[in-house]
Amino acid sequence: TLRAQSLTKSFGAKPVLSDIDLQLNAGEWLGILGESGSGKSTLLRILGRFQDADQGQVVFKEQELKPVSGELIPGHESIKLIHQEFELFPNQTVEENIAYSLRFYDAGYRKEKVNELLSVTGLEYVKNQKAKLLSGGEKQRTAIAKALAEQPDVLLLDEPFAHLDNHNRRVLASAIETMRRQQKMSCVFVTHEAADALAWSDRIAVLREGKIIQIGTPQEVYNQPIDSYVAELTGDIN
Ligand code: ATP
Ligand code: MG
Repeated sequence: TLRAQSLTKSFGAKPVLSDIDLQLNAGEWLGILGESGSGKSTLLRILGRFQDADQGQVVFKEQELKPVSGELIPGHESIKLIHQEFELFPNQTVEENIAYSLRFYDAGYRKEKVNELLSVTGLEYVKNQKAKLLSGGEKQRTAIAKALAEQPDVLLLDEPFAHLDNHNRRVLASAIETMRRQQKMSCVFVTHEAADALAWSDRIAVLREGKIIQIGTPQEVYNQPIDSYVAELTGDIN
């Protein structure tokens, strides 16, 4: 569904992404694993069209996505990016934030869907709390519930596990399991935690200093790391 071809991006003189090729298959969960500063968020922003690459293309459903400054193409809204710092309406409650994403549906369906998403993401207990008063993990889950409400074809998640304690990791994990079973959605998620990449990816792409140095199934990357860097990155998961 989504394909990146020869993406290159620099900030000033500093190359951040070089010659990135990626193909996201329908229904696939692709994990991008890399250390802090390796270019993960930049890559995700380019895929989600929040930023332009210097060179290369992003192709979605066989159509090349135009630069951010250009015209929107139909279908663009089917790619949904959740940023590392999520955007919620701070003065609206969790429930209202999720309902906003369902504003084009009738009230009955909206209510039903909001309740389902509150349950899937374990947020019932804070549903009437204003977003600005939520903890980091609660904000994260609210942002994910909002994105799921929009039923995008492709979900882009920036460090989805970053703010979560063990309990909420399990809550999110089971939400992810549900989404994966439905297989209507593909996902690119980025993480610096090998254990998360290994657990949740159909394929993992290892990003090092803006280059994809290995791509393969979790088994391949874990059992046949291409070099000692990948071995160390994925091996040390106790
Ligand atoms: P983290 O795991 O810490 O979130 P990341 O892999 O997501 O890191 P990016 O945010 O993509 O990394 O940043 C990659 C590099 O590009 C970093 O060195 C960062 O400082 C730099 N960078 C990112 N955005 C900009 C910008 N707008 N202007 C200049 N440099 C930038
Ligand atoms: Mg980042």
